[in-house]
Amino acid sequence: MNTHLRIAGIINESIVDGPGIRLVVFTQGCKHNCPGCHNPETHPFEKGNLVEVDDIIKQMKSNPLLDGITLSGGDPFEQAEALSELAKRVKNIGHNVITYTGYTFEYILENKDTNKGWDKLINETDILVDGRFEIAKKTMLLKFRGSANQRIIDVKKSLASHSIVEIQL
Ligand code: SF4
Repeated sequence: MNTHLRIAGIINESIVDGPGIRLVVFTQGCKHNCPGCHNPETHPFEKGNLVEVDDIIKQMKSNPLLDGITLSGGDPFEQAEALSELAKRVKNIGHNVITYTGYTFEYILENKDTNKGWDKLINETDILVDGRFEIAKKTMLLKFRGSANQRIIDVKKSLASHSIVEIQL
């Protein structure tokens, strides 16, 4: 199991990346190239810094104020194996997991068996915010999303019902 992560940065306490107070991991590396992306510095796969899953878990355990972790990017699905291990351990200490991705939920399900760690990461994710940032659909009115095509998906309910269950946070 690969437990190294290449990250662009960490925010120790955020209230804008999901409900409650969250530790946010910005992963390094993204292929989507969405026009208008706010984080172009996270696109190259060779930049950023290497961290261990263990270090992030220690950081989370040291802050009793946290409600959960948000995996953002970059695109977390480019490092799905190590992030699935992180997500599993985060849940073991009683926190929830939100994952942002430029891939759609449907695409992830169709390709989860041919991309390392995708199956595990989607199964360890409680809430998925999916889809590329589309500048023509940009809106400041939606919470936790940059453009109106992106959905906030309850992963467990969606997998159980074989249909996409969207939620409002
Ligand atoms: S998926 Fe996110 S990080 Fe990647 S290009 Fe699109 S907006 Fe930027």
